[in-house]
Amino acid sequence: MKSGDLLVESSSLQQSEQLLSITKFGDIPITVSAHASLNYTRGVMSSDEFLMVSDSEFISELEAQKVIAARRITLKRDGQIIPTRHVILTFDTPVLPKKITAGYISCDIRPYIPNPVRCFKCQRFGHIKTACRGSSALCPRCSEPGHEETICQNPEKCFNCKGNHALYSITCPKWKLEKEIQSVKVTRNISIQEARKIVHDRTPKTNHSYSAALKTIKNPDTPLEPIQTRQFQNLLLLQQKMKKLLR
Ligand SMILES: [Zn+2]
Ligand SMILES: [Zn+2]
Ligand SMILES: [Zn+2]
Repeated sequence: MKSGDLLVESSSLQQSEQLLSITKFGDIPITVSAHASLNYTRGVMSSDEFLMVSDSEFISELEAQKVIAARRITLKRDGQIIPTRHVILTFDTPVLPKKITAGYISCDIRPYIPNPVRCFKCQRFGHIKTACRGSSALCPRCSEPGHEETICQNPEKCFNCKGNHALYSITCPKWKLEKEIQSVKVTRNISIQEARKIVHDRTPKTNHSYSAALKTIKNPDTPLEPIQTRQFQNLLLLQQKMKKLLR
């Protein structure tokens, strides 16, 4: 993974318990911990039968079915918060259950695919405002810095795809791509980095020139494979030695 950690998928509980007890890999001391999100799944339950049931009641009533969190989806209309018939349930299982039963009612569960996260400051996808390393805040309507959207008179322009729409438009091809990444992540239960790679690999590439390829290599967002990093370091070392020889 980007962090340098190794992500291991185990095929049984016994296997993961054994892995969790390991402190050394060969001679190298290591720490093993359960992944913070991949061991959980989230699904949406839609039903009129449970409109009066609170989030905490869902958790206590469905505890035996491995539900550990519940959140009813709400809408905001004219400043009022309106509850909907949809409830997001978090299960303490790596595979999403097909249905839940409550009393005599059985209810289908479908995967919950969250909307892509977009930074309200720099407007890029994949992080939130508090984690932003961008320098200037952009107007979500015209992608220019220095003013608020409320006073913006400029034509709509999207920073992410350069199209003629506001940044929050769901017609944005970049938004659709990010949503597809979320969908692959959820349905295959893999990390966001893996999902991103799968979606990018199957998206036809335009602009496949030599300079475009160079740009990809230089882009710090694409992590180098460990072996490439090592080769790169060797290369740097070698260069310094050559400089000394030439002097
Ligand atoms: Zn940002
Ligand atoms: Zn603007
Ligand atoms: Zn766009």
